[in-house]
Amino acid sequence: MCWHSNVILPLSFSARPTKAVSFNSGLRTLHIRILQRMRPPENAAFEMRHISPKKGFKPTSSGEIRTLIGLHLAMGVMKMPRVSMYWEAGMDIGIFRNTMCRDRFFQLRSHLHLVNNLERPAENNDVFYKVCPLYDAMRRRCLELPLEENLCVDEQMVPFRGSLSVKQYVKGKPHPWGVKIYFLCGKSGMAYDFLLHQGATMEVSEQFKTQLGLGAGVVYHLSQRITEADHKLHFDNYFMTYNLLELLAEKEIHAAGTARVCRFANPPLQSDKVMAKMPRGSCDEAVSCDGKVALVKWFDSRSVVMASNFVGVGTMDEVLRWDEKQGRFLNVSRPEVVKLYNEAMVGVDLLNQLVSLYRTEIRSRKWTLRMITHAFDLAVVNSWLEYRLDAKRANLQTKDTLDLLHFKMNVAQCLVSDARPLPEVQYDMVDHMPNYDEKTEATRCKRPYCTGKTHVFCDKCNIHLCFVPHRNCFKAAHRK
Ligand SMILES: [Zn+2]
Ligand SMILES: [Zn+2]
Repeated sequence: MCWHSNVILPLSFSARPTKAVSFNSGLRTLHIRILQRMRPPENAAFEMRHISPKKGFKPTSSGEIRTLIGLHLAMGVMKMPRVSMYWEAGMDIGIFRNTMCRDRFFQLRSHLHLVNNLERPAENNDVFYKVCPLYDAMRRRCLELPLEENLCVDEQMVPFRGSLSVKQYVKGKPHPWGVKIYFLCGKSGMAYDFLLHQGATMEVSEQFKTQLGLGAGVVYHLSQRITEADHKLHFDNYFMTYNLLELLAEKEIHAAGTARVCRFANPPLQSDKVMAKMPRGSCDEAVSCDGKVALVKWFDSRSVVMASNFVGVGTMDEVLRWDEKQGRFLNVSRPEVVKLYNEAMVGVDLLNQLVSLYRTEIRSRKWTLRMITHAFDLAVVNSWLEYRLDAKRANLQTKDTLDLLHFKMNVAQCLVSDARPLPEVQYDMVDHMPNYDEKTEATRCKRPYCTGKTHVFCDKCNIHLCFVPHRNCFKAAHRK
């Protein structure tokens, strides 16, 4: 690789607005269906098949497991210092005391399994095998979402201090110890794809790993989610390599991010020493001979090096910075690549922040439980972001839109209230679609006083309702 110095790279991106995202439905949230989507098939998961019938252990049902999950979400919202306090008489928290007794809660929680460990195939070396159905289901939903224009890849830590072979330590994070998940997020914080970090057994193909190295391999792996041209993808210097930028350019993905100069074959950039003497905000640029990659060094309070396959210094703008020596604010000019990076790189951080707001805290040393509650926390946040988009599209006023706190509590309530839809959902006249179940036996219709049995259910309310020539409970149940 060789470099030209100070050549401005032609800007190949246009300023047109993000492609209109297409949703096929209106408001479809506040609702168990979100969790339904992430939930593995009824029979496969959340069963306690392999538990020996210990004395006093009553078999569970899918309804009870829903309640268990709902209570965990509620715990994330009302944080008590000790789990048993949620049931204490003086606290008087109805959602806990009226739905499940404390001992049953602990019993179910300590025996919760998503897969039958005894049925694990011998060749399966997935570290996260035990929580796989849940994360797969959640990922399937992420893959359905229409992509935003500005995307970023970064890591998220699931706080965990117990023992697990792939536990990581990442310096500078609020929870440095834990399980690492790589996320492809939009600027809005919405997750579009993710990959659990598990070293050698990670899903990234061997070809990517040998060709690019692990970090860049992860970005390239996640970039497969981007199938249309002209998306902008940002990532930091942990992932950045020259080859990665080149490969992404071939896929017409505009990529930019911070870079470690040592990975870029001696580009002719000014040294820190020289740049420190120049006025603040000075920058230097180098473009590879093939014109594919530009490196920009910008000297703010210290030097930052950025690499990109679509933008260099570009159109500079100005940012306000405090100057220690002069004791006043200064206008410091900033290259375009830095501006775009700073704007887009917030996605994964935003997701992390939202997840940690009402995170279900688990003291347990069991990593499975930690990962299960994390999956539900994540799903709620992503669903809320989706809900907010839908609400905006339906011209709902901000005061009528639920904040994350109330949204999460609503989902929790739906889950514990025996899967019955909330009245404001059932009668909202939006997006109630009939669907057929695949059960061998028909289910009792949920319209009051109807004794019919049916295979038809409402996709949104998730309740069975007759829909036959002389009995249209489906219509009746959606009208007040
Ligand atoms: Zn319905
Ligand atoms: Zn009926």
